[in-house]
Amino acid sequence: MKEMLDVAVIGGGASGLCCGVEIKLHDRSVSVGIFEQLSRVGKKLITTGNGRCNITNRNISLDRYHGENTDFASFALNTYDNLYTENFFAELGIVFTYEEEKAFPYSLQASSVVDALRFSCEDLGIKTYTDTKITEITKKNNYFEIKSSADCFFAKTVVVATGLYSGGEKLGSNGSMFRILKQHGYDTSPVTPAIVQLKTDNKITKSLKGIKVNADVKLLFGGKTLKSDFGEVLFCDYGLSGPPIMQLSREVSRQKGEFVISLDIMPEYSFSSLCDLISFRVSTLRGRKLEEFFTGMLNKRVGQQIIKMSGKSLSDRVDSLTNSDIKNMVSIIKNWQFEVLGTTGFENSQVTAGGLKTSNFDDTTMMSKKEKGLFAIGEILDIDGDCGGFNLQWAWSSAFCASSGIINFLENL
Ligand SMILES: Cc1cc2nc3c(=O)[nH]c(=O)nc-3n(C[C@H](O)[C@H](O)[C@H](O)COP(=O)(O)OP(=O)(O)OC[C@H]3O[C@@H](n4cnc5c(N)ncnc54)[C@H](O)[C@@H]3O)c2cc1C
Repeated sequence: MKEMLDVAVIGGGASGLCCGVEIKLHDRSVSVGIFEQLSRVGKKLITTGNGRCNITNRNISLDRYHGENTDFASFALNTYDNLYTENFFAELGIVFTYEEEKAFPYSLQASSVVDALRFSCEDLGIKTYTDTKITEITKKNNYFEIKSSADCFFAKTVVVATGLYSGGEKLGSNGSMFRILKQHGYDTSPVTPAIVQLKTDNKITKSLKGIKVNADVKLLFGGKTLKSDFGEVLFCDYGLSGPPIMQLSREVSRQKGEFVISLDIMPEYSFSSLCDLISFRVSTLRGRKLEEFFTGMLNKRVGQQIIKMSGKSLSDRVDSLTNSDIKNMVSIIKNWQFEVLGTTGFENSQVTAGGLKTSNFDDTTMMSKKEKGLFAIGEILDIDGDCGGFNLQWAWSSAFCASSGIINFLENL
């Protein structure tokens, strides 16, 4: 029989690499192997934060997380919080910089986070098996048999750190281990894309493609506001993107029904103060064509679109505007509605909502309640976070938690 590993980590992504390194930092005598199906570890991590890796957030709190039972994440996130994460990475050579509450490596290169983890794996003697897709795990009496298409490995404990579907096949997100654990009898909750762009009625968004506006964004369901956010919205040929849109997208794929996005692109102004402002412009710019009416106030193409939507022609004169035209324009600026048709799917999403039900696992160790010695961490569990470093923090926190659980488990074998 081949060497028996103490720990087989399946998945060389954020949570898997972190878990392996943390175990070795605490106990060098534990043998750890990381099995990664792609040719390199950390392929998704390199793409995070637009290549800059928003590694954590200084405001980690449970209300930024979602899932059937978010309390499950409480122990891990409180015990191994953002400061714990920063200390861990500081020891690996990462210096931090912040944008508001979001933490990034000072290099602003996600690749440096992957390198820090990769070099630590090498320094600590962690064996990394790339191009090794695990296709089967079988629990024997007191160990696991782990099969890839070409080989068979043995380990006392297994950590499933394989993520789910977000980012698609090229980043290793195909849900293969999720399906395997389902066959093992693990309960699951429905998986849907989250932190993803929205497809909308695109006649207007297509014509404004590439333009960004700062807006108060509301997600309406049955005419009522379900959630709201503020930030930069990007018009795209398929619909809408940008941080607030991604933040609100989770609900769209979780619930059936008709959703509408409402943009307020001048949120600092009340309806009446905006009417006053536009009336003032009418009085001072009366000789101009409407084509130029919003110059200096709104993006030129956005302004022209608003004029057309209010039923006026760009060649009309400013002094043709009536009070009712002004109110129409203000209504659009304050409540510009787009019918939502869906999301752009798993391939474009940053995280998967749903996953293995957390009731299958112990919240202080991430160990399975069904198969002693099997641990699951990161995105494969039914916990997902908001945009802003919350998902990576969950990957780290759950990995730290499992590491200490594994060391304890091995000591008591
Ligand atoms: C484009 C993009 C940008 C993002 N930006 C941020 C950000 O800035 N901040 C943030 O907090 N979150 C971000 N996220 C989310 C974050 O990257 C994920 O939540 C996190 O990587 C999940 O970690 P994980 O270890 O669970 O899974 P992953 O990082 O996906 O790692 C899983 C690994 O397992 C491997 N694997 C899968 N199945 C098998 C198998 N059967 N055998 C062997 N190996 C297997 C995969 O190839 C992969 O390498 C982003 C996501 C994307 C897609």
